[in-house]
Amino acid sequence: MTMQEPQILVSEVGPRDGLQSIQTVMPTEAKKRWIAAQAAAGCREIEVGSFVPATIIPQLADTAEIVEFARTIPELTVAVLVPNLKGAENAIAAGAHKISIPFSVSETHSRKNVRRDHDQMVEEVRRIAERVADVDAGKRPHFEAGLSTAFGCTLEGPIDEDLVVRSAVRLIEAGAAEVGLSDTTGYANPAQVTRLIRKVRRAVGDERLTGVHLHNTRGLGLANALAALDEGITTLDSSLGGIGGCPFAPGASGNIVTEDLVFMLEAMGYNTGIDIDKLLAVRTILRDALPDEPLYGFTPDAGLPLGFAEQR
Ligand code: ZN
Repeated sequence: MTMQEPQILVSEVGPRDGLQSIQTVMPTEAKKRWIAAQAAAGCREIEVGSFVPATIIPQLADTAEIVEFARTIPELTVAVLVPNLKGAENAIAAGAHKISIPFSVSETHSRKNVRRDHDQMVEEVRRIAERVADVDAGKRPHFEAGLSTAFGCTLEGPIDEDLVVRSAVRLIEAGAAEVGLSDTTGYANPAQVTRLIRKVRRAVGDERLTGVHLHNTRGLGLANALAALDEGITTLDSSLGGIGGCPFAPGASGNIVTEDLVFMLEAMGYNTGIDIDKLLAVRTILRDALPDEPLYGFTPDAGLPLGFAEQR
């Protein structure tokens, strides 16, 4: 494995987004094996959990322990999700390298999910940004606000693109270092991905939007990822085995599948820093720990094309 920086950062979100969306609670030791194995395969960033009350998401109750473990892995950026200032304080105390807060562009979704409207969420982001700024420069986590439901909402339907842009501007002004675009509901299509990235970047600057979070609910995940790549996006979220799903769409798959995404990127000549053979082997850990959960992905079933390893 080279020490060269990957051209495209594949950010694994399975231990957070994937696990929070399924009923089974993965044992802490299995999570550690998963994270360690995936980091050993070359993944440089893993969202390992979320600092939400265990009563709300019992699947992620061990996040502090998981962060502590993940921090021992060299060269791994340990990312966590937080719903509010309290969560951010816990994340800072645990030593997370990256903190993301979801901001639902659909205000209905925001009120239902976190019982806060947009003004209250912006204020929360401002408080977190101030708290983050107080941390010593060497230990200060990267603070990002994710524009969730940016491509559509299961409660509101289509989302006004100007509202996405205005929300991005407000979040940057409130102190978020960066915004991300999240297709929480799997509604996005490639034309929309292209359009929204351009609009948001025009408003906040290219360097303030470098990542997108995509789901594969309707099979458009990789097409959307390609559209994002064409716009110069350099961080793509995905989950191993595409685990997770959508609580509003029974049977729907979760995030885009890490294995298929890495295959696409490497086949196109992008360096991800990930050893795909080692990555495919990590699935065994998921299959053993979550025997009743479906694992998605085409590359794992089909195998790599003949001669693929030699081409790289
Ligand atoms: Zn998601």
